[in-house]
Amino acid sequence: MVNMEVTDSRSPLRSDMSIPTDTLETPSYHCPACGATVSIEPPSSPRHDAPCGCSLWCRKRMVDDVIVLDVLRGRTPGHDDVELLSQSVVNCSGVPHVVIDLSNLDFVNGSFMDGLMALYTRVKAANGRLILCGIRKPSVRDAFYDSSLDKIFDIRDSQEAALACL
Ligand SMILES: [Zn+2]
Repeated sequence: MVNMEVTDSRSPLRSDMSIPTDTLETPSYHCPACGATVSIEPPSSPRHDAPCGCSLWCRKRMVDDVIVLDVLRGRTPGHDDVELLSQSVVNCSGVPHVVIDLSNLDFVNGSFMDGLMALYTRVKAANGRLILCGIRKPSVRDAFYDSSLDKIFDIRDSQEAALACL
């Protein structure tokens, strides 16, 4: 037996909703480098650039004073993409602490590794820390361990573990 009245609380016409419901279905993100609002295409789409020229390869958010970068699925950034972002990371905060979550990364290449190294060097020079987490896919894990980069980078299992040591 179905009582139709109990579904009323889910109505989209609630008068206290100040945000139009259609904006909730079209997520927009901020460019990780310059902060401009941009819309992101489905993960299967090819490379998508923000107006400033930065590839949208991650989502940037702040957890307290830590910059957390979540790599978006299907996007492996190159050196220049990481470089654009690393400039803004170091310029924006006093002592930059950065966590990069690589769990959505499908593969890495030399260009991305070069970019990471440059970011690491820059963050360290500013007395900050760069911590990587979410390295789970075998191809990504192998790329770090085979090149001994796991001895250079601070790698933690999860975002929670990374944030806990900052
Ligand atoms: Zn931008």
